[in-house]
Amino acid sequence: MRKPLVVGNWKMNGSLKLTGDLLRAIEDGINDKISSEVGICVPFVYIALAVDTVDATRLTIGAQTVSEFESGAYTGEISASMLAELACHWVLVGHSERRMLFNESNQALVAKVLAAQGAGLIPIYCVGESESDYQSGKTLNVINEQVGALLSNKAVNLNQLVLAYEPVWAIGTGLTASPDEAQQAHVFIRGLVREKAGDLADKVRILYGGSVNPSNASSLFEQEDIDGGLIGGASLDADAFISICQKA
Ligand code: PEP
Repeated sequence: MRKPLVVGNWKMNGSLKLTGDLLRAIEDGINDKISSEVGICVPFVYIALAVDTVDATRLTIGAQTVSEFESGAYTGEISASMLAELACHWVLVGHSERRMLFNESNQALVAKVLAAQGAGLIPIYCVGESESDYQSGKTLNVINEQVGALLSNKAVNLNQLVLAYEPVWAIGTGLTASPDEAQQAHVFIRGLVREKAGDLADKVRILYGGSVNPSNASSLFEQEDIDGGLIGGASLDADAFISICQKA
């Protein structure tokens, strides 16, 4: 019912050469055996090259953040319409590195979701608890606050949105939430969407992210409410990423 989706997040890695080489290798590996939809979020400066390199019917390209503003005196920012003009498909919003290192607030992130949707992009809105919140049993409180900020804005189009649950303590650490823990968090998130939007909750894809690799991908993706993955480190290795895509 929900088509599995795997999205790579290259973060601030790459070069012109790596972008071409790695995308070609990934695209070659995405054959008829892969039933999931696949996207890769590259640094802004490689988006045009990335879009030119791949066939968008097999592999779609995304950005890693976007400005909440439409245009004007915002030095250094990149607008949603600029990304759309490059045929960018996805944009990550609220990755924990943006929330923590760049102090992006829920309010600003919801504005980014609206800006992205307004330009026809599909935002992937990321949520997840820190290690200390996890240790003190506050996982669901944090998710409630982050997802609640999004759902309380009536202008958000849930038909044009992907959610991603990424426990911060699992990102880039080699630790993952257990399949059961992740499933519980996804059920909770879907429940929040259901409270606001009824049966539409069954259509919204919720990805899991946090040290997904070829060995743990199957046990996570076979959970009923995990609709694919958001993949950081392993998306920089074509074989590992393709193997993860095959499991979704
Ligand atoms: C991420 O950056 O979104 C991520 C999940 O990273 P990693 O897979 O490296 O933990």
